[in-house]
Amino acid sequence: MLNLTMDQQLRLYAKVIENTLQAILITDIEGKIIYANGAFLKQTGYELTELYGQTPRILKSGKQDNQYYHDLWETLLEIGQWQGELWNRDKNGRLFFEQISISAVKGEQGDVAYYVAISTDITTYKLEREKLEEVNSVLQQLSSIDGLTSIANRRYFDENLEREWRRAIRKKTELSLIMIDIDYFKSFNDTYGHLSGDECIKTVAQVLNSSVNRPGDLAARFGGEEFIVLLPDTELEGAMKVARSIRATVEALQIVHAGSLINDYVTVSLGVATISPGVEQTAKELVYAADQVLYEAKQNGRNRISAVRPI
Ligand code: GH3
Ligand code: MG
Ligand code: MG
Repeated sequence: MLNLTMDQQLRLYAKVIENTLQAILITDIEGKIIYANGAFLKQTGYELTELYGQTPRILKSGKQDNQYYHDLWETLLEIGQWQGELWNRDKNGRLFFEQISISAVKGEQGDVAYYVAISTDITTYKLEREKLEEVNSVLQQLSSIDGLTSIANRRYFDENLEREWRRAIRKKTELSLIMIDIDYFKSFNDTYGHLSGDECIKTVAQVLNSSVNRPGDLAARFGGEEFIVLLPDTELEGAMKVARSIRATVEALQIVHAGSLINDYVTVSLGVATISPGVEQTAKELVYAADQVLYEAKQNGRNRISAVRPI
């Protein structure tokens, strides 16, 4: 260190360690505590004299199972370092959550002689994060937007379908549905991972969203990698036009799909059902019909459209 004697350097190190806001704990090779800095004492409520000779197990909260500690030690012994998060308990029994990194430190002889743990109390952050997640999930349930794709969710679709169904009966107009399912998507996930799968679902959702533009049209995520499009006041030929455009646009995206048995790229199969609703039928029957013809499109080779006009 520039312009400092060895002694000055050591005193500086000691000061930094003692006064840093992160809690620092040092144990010997057997895990017996030989040092704790000021932040550690403040965080845990212990006096230094109470800690000497103890092991960090006195902080154990019971919130992580034995396997967790087993994995921790396995990593530490294997690569000399472990980073993670731990629930611990202070002297008064208060639970706290910390982000912690533990390193093995070699002594004079070159063998591991000490373990040093440096941690930050992130309890407040953790609790706020949990609260936020809870609020988010409640909002999600109340909302009409699908969390992954930002297009309409199933709930919103169901409500709209019922409304449009009644309107179609009143106005004696035709109503069409397109059910869409990504081809060989399980193997897309297997090949590229779940996160890439999610990205693919989002992209397909955007295609659907921009394929419908008349007022009343609605593209929604029906579940998983299945989507549904509601086309009020639209006869079969009009719905087929939309379906053809969706099929072609998805294929033209050229999202590489090595696991697909029918194409080099991601494709979708579509089922179209059109009806002029009467009081003797239900909207659910139309959804069922669209699902049935989607299945038929799958059977016929995928990346294609099947249509039906249920009576
Ligand atoms: P098919 O051509 O017959 O449709 O074959 P498939 O593999 O696509 O079969 P299916 O439609 O039954 O598979 C749905 C798979 O989609 C199951 C699951 O692995 C995946 N999946 C469902 N929801 C999600 C999601 O939200 N994200 C991701 N990444 N994958 C999902
Ligand atoms: Mg599929
Ligand atoms: Mg599916």
